[in-house]
Amino acid sequence: MTGVNREDLVPAYRIKRHDGGISLMFRCPHCRAVHSHGEPDGERSVLTSRVAHCHNPRSPWLGRGYRLMVVGTVRSSRELPLWTEVDAAALNDAVGER
Ligand SMILES: [Zn+2]
Repeated sequence: MTGVNREDLVPAYRIKRHDGGISLMFRCPHCRAVHSHGEPDGERSVLTSRVAHCHNPRSPWLGRGYRLMVVGTVRSSRELPLWTEVDAAALNDAVGER
């Protein structure tokens, strides 16, 4: 691929919030925090592009975006799996988009 620099794919999980809404969450491989994005009613999609919530100065996502790919549902953010920088590189190399 030449000159194409697509946003990283990020496996994310749906979680039902206390207010009844749905959020998409994942544990960030770059800053270890849980990043959460709302999923508006009627706009459910397996793949959505979002502005990155990562503010770690060393994060490659700083000031960029990523594509959340829904891979499951959790009841609590504590159930979110660890996802490392190595995992992130492996996934995105495997799909051949960078
Ligand atoms: Zn982060």
